[in-house]
Amino acid sequence: MVDAPASPVARERLDALARLVSGPTDREEPTRTDRDSLPIHAPYDDSVVGEVPSCTPDDVRDAVSKARAAADEWAAWPVEDRVAVIRRFHDALLDRREDLLDVIQTETGKARVDALEEVLDAATAARYYGNHAGQVLGSTRRGGAIPLLTKTVEHHHPVGVVGIISPWNYPLSLSISEAIPALLAGNGVVIKPDEGTPFTALWGLELLRECGLPDDAVQVVTGEGPTLGEPLIEAVDYVSFTGSTEVGRTIAETAGRHLTECSLELGGKNALLVLDDANVERAARGAARGCFANAGQLCISIERIYVHESVADDFRDAFVREARALTLDAGYDYDHDVGSLLDDALLETVEAHVENAVEKGATVLTGGRARPDLGPYFYEPTILTDVTPEMTLADEETFGPVVSLYEVETVSDAIEQTNDSAYGLNASVWTENTERGEQVATRLEAGTVNVNEAYAAAWGSFDAPMGGMKDSGIGRRHGRRGMLKYTESQTVATQRIAPFSPPKRGKRLWADSASFGVLLWKRISELGP
Ligand code: NAD
Repeated sequence: MVDAPASPVARERLDALARLVSGPTDREEPTRTDRDSLPIHAPYDDSVVGEVPSCTPDDVRDAVSKARAAADEWAAWPVEDRVAVIRRFHDALLDRREDLLDVIQTETGKARVDALEEVLDAATAARYYGNHAGQVLGSTRRGGAIPLLTKTVEHHHPVGVVGIISPWNYPLSLSISEAIPALLAGNGVVIKPDEGTPFTALWGLELLRECGLPDDAVQVVTGEGPTLGEPLIEAVDYVSFTGSTEVGRTIAETAGRHLTECSLELGGKNALLVLDDANVERAARGAARGCFANAGQLCISIERIYVHESVADDFRDAFVREARALTLDAGYDYDHDVGSLLDDALLETVEAHVENAVEKGATVLTGGRARPDLGPYFYEPTILTDVTPEMTLADEETFGPVVSLYEVETVSDAIEQTNDSAYGLNASVWTENTERGEQVATRLEAGTVNVNEAYAAAWGSFDAPMGGMKDSGIGRRHGRRGMLKYTESQTVATQRIAPFSPPKRGKRLWADSASFGVLLWKRISELGP
């Protein structure tokens, strides 16, 4: 029996959050009490800490209707008023962070420092989009069809209701942070959090309402993805999905059938490159954070390291030292570096990947075992070498604290092997020559590349888009694109004086003049702006 610390969040508090789940409105059946409930477990000791309703497809349709009705009013607010709500949310979030960190840790089992990353992320999203919403959403004059004669303006309208389907690993960042640009753009939002981690999104919903968001503008529906996914995708105007590539394909198919636009933020098998001129100590410290943050349950975490042979021994030794120095344990404080895995399914995958690799000849440099003495799902930070292509974890995402170390002869080999993957989410390059690092970065097939950092530099650069190439996704979050995707653009073009239609007579002359005009325009445009 493990003596794990009990959650500091009272059961009544979680019950109160559960009551915020979107419920039936006008329908008689089924009522909330008729619905099954989902028990929520604390990964630290697998105890049941609370429960939420298992929503039905009708609940989802109701939730979308409520969000749609609220969005009509919300979208009519001046953008500065919507921004004011989000700015209040920013401050309140930081003020109440300790309470929120307890909730996040309770349902995910992550270390407190990893939970804090989520709080800082949501605050950054609120600040960035709060500061930029007015400018991004503002109507913009565009070049007209005929200079001086066509006045063309691009407007951005909210899409209506945005559905957000989010995973368990970052239950605040991937639900509430994602909802912020959608809300600021004037949409209603329906969040379907992962079935195991609903309380964090509900906590965020409660705070948004306290900060002045109209009550129904955000709805949270809890329950099983396969049951709620299709009714949600059918009813909303845009779906933002974060999760596995496998489920992402299902979402894309369903969205295609209903012609619902979607963005898909999916899995990765991210690589870190240590070049011959890297500061190996620094690289080893960065790699340890990159591989073992959130116990490796991070889409942008590092699972492959390609190190130049000239620094391979030094890097290996320093990296193993860094990994061994990480403290692994349960605790609702900042005393530990690495927390628990989510559940038995995750632990099984991690164990199976490592066992399969070891059976086929991989060497464990450190870790390689579960730690049931700390909690049911703890697994040690693990570094493997001698990994070959026939091992499962060579290509497949483990989504745990396991990394493969490969030695390479040249930078080109490292680039080629990095790109030899179905995924293309994140990458990291370590070198003392940052210009060289930036050049290498552009040759990597990854949506984000960090030079002398593992993942946080690119993720935290909110002004720049973030997302996956290849099987890692479609679309981007963050930056202008992260907000504009939640809008319908509309072009309004007003024609003055000369219409486009050819005259009834003199079509030859008209054709020659139009052709000459087009040629002239090209020549003038070549003179520069
Ligand atoms: P998952 O795909 O199993 O689940 C994600 C969400 O989809 C959950 O809310 C789940 O209930 C829902 N879902 C499941 N089946 C569904 C269906 N048929 N229709 C609609 N919804 C459905 O992913 P997970 O295991 O929770 O998360 C881990 C995966 O997410 C990893 O592959 C990780 O790399 C990826 N991820 C990606 C990013 C990113 O930004 N690219 C961020 C975090 C996690």
